[in-house]
Amino acid sequence: MTEFPKVVLSTKKHESLLRFHPWVFSGAIKKIYGDPKDGDIVEVFSNRDEYLATGHYQEEGSISVRAFSFEPITPDEKFWKDKIANAYQTRKNLGLVDSTNTNIYRLVHAEGDGLPGLIIDVYADTAVMQCHSIGMYMLRDKLVEALRSNFGDKLKTIYDKSSETLPRNYAQNIKNECLWGEDKGNVVGLENGCKYNVDWYTGQKTGFFIDQRFNRQLLGEYSKGKKVLNTFCYSGGFSIAALLNGAKEVHSLDSSARALDLVTENLKLNGLENSNHKNIKADAVEYIREIDADYDIIVLDPPAFAKHISTRHNAVQGYKRLNAQAIKSIKPGGMIFTFSCSQVVDKQMFNSTIMAAAINAGRKVRILHQLHQPADHPINIFHPESEYLKGLVIQVD
Ligand code: SAH
Repeated sequence: MTEFPKVVLSTKKHESLLRFHPWVFSGAIKKIYGDPKDGDIVEVFSNRDEYLATGHYQEEGSISVRAFSFEPITPDEKFWKDKIANAYQTRKNLGLVDSTNTNIYRLVHAEGDGLPGLIIDVYADTAVMQCHSIGMYMLRDKLVEALRSNFGDKLKTIYDKSSETLPRNYAQNIKNECLWGEDKGNVVGLENGCKYNVDWYTGQKTGFFIDQRFNRQLLGEYSKGKKVLNTFCYSGGFSIAALLNGAKEVHSLDSSARALDLVTENLKLNGLENSNHKNIKADAVEYIREIDADYDIIVLDPPAFAKHISTRHNAVQGYKRLNAQAIKSIKPGGMIFTFSCSQVVDKQMFNSTIMAAAINAGRKVRILHQLHQPADHPINIFHPESEYLKGLVIQVD
C-alpha cells in the first residue's frame, strides 16, 4: 500500500469525520507529516492516531482536505471509474439518461455524489466539468476516461470550465479547454420539452441553472392564462416554461443585457418570438417597488445574497426587503415563487425571513409548496451543506 502524507487533527476535531462529513478545516489540523502539495492525496488521523479518511489536500482556502473515502485505499483508475459509474447509474434510475424530453441534467453533484470538489453537468451530447479542488482538477484524464466509458457514443464533447471555480492563485495559470471531442462552445438542450441554447464559454456556472427544472415545471402548471413576472430571469428558464404552458403574458427581468439576449434567443428556439412577452432590463428590487398590482405570478430567483456566514445577516435583510416588496405589489390571490440559493441560509431561516416579509407587507400569506433542488443534485445526508436551493410558493390574499 502507498504511504500517503498524514494529516493529524487536534483533540475532538475528528468527530465530524466519524460522522462521514467530508471536510477538514485548516483550523482543525494539529500536525502534518510528509509535506503534501496542493492536490495530493493524504490520510487523515485523529489525535489518538486512528485512521479517519482519505482525501485531497489543498493549502489555499479554509478547507484543507476534502475526503472521498472513509476507508484506507489507494485510489486507482477503477476507483474513479466506479464513482462516475455510480453517479451515472443514479441519473439513469432517475430517468434522466434516456429521457426524450430532458437531456439537461447534473451528473455529478460534488459531495452529494461522494466526489467533493467536482461538478459535471450534461447538456445533450456535452459534459461540462467544473472542479472546485485542485485534486479533482489533476484527475481530469481519468474523469474523461470514466465519462467516455459510461456514455459511449452519446457523448461528443467534454469541456473543462474550472478557471472560475479553482482557488485564485492556481486558476491564474490554467485555462478553460475542451478535454475531449469537438470544441463546439454551445448546444441546444431540452428540459421538460423546452429548448434552451446553452453556451458554456460565456454562460454563468456551466452554462445553465439546471437546479430549477422541477420548479419551472411547477410554474408551468399554474401559468395558463396568467400574467407572469420572472425576475432575475437569466436565460429565461421560467419564462419559457410559463409561455409554453399557456401564460397570457410574461415579462422577463434581469439587470444584465447579455442575459436578456439569451432570453430572446431561447424564445426563438421555442417558436415563441411572437408571443406576448417583454424583456425588462432593470434592478429587480427597484422595479418591483414601482409596479401596479396586476401580475398573477411573480418569480423571485436572485443570485446567492450570502456566500459566507459573515454576510448572512445582510443577505437575510436583502431577501426580506425583496419579498416584502413583491408581497405588497402582487394582485390579490396571486402567487410568488420565491427562492434562495445561499448555502448559509437554511430552510428554516428562509421560511422565517418570508414570514417577516409578510408581516412587513401586512398581507395574508399562505405557503402552497415548499421547493428544493431536484434529485440530480442529491444531498449527502452527512453533509447538510449540499442542500443549498430552497423555495416557497406562496399565495397572497
Ligand atoms: N432564474 C434564473 C437564474 C437566476 S441567476 C434561471 O432560471 O435560469 C441570477 C440572475 O440575476 C443573473 O442573471 C443576474 O444577472 C441577475 N441579477 C443579479 N442582480 C440583479 C438585480 N439586482 N436585479 C435584476 N437582476 C439581477
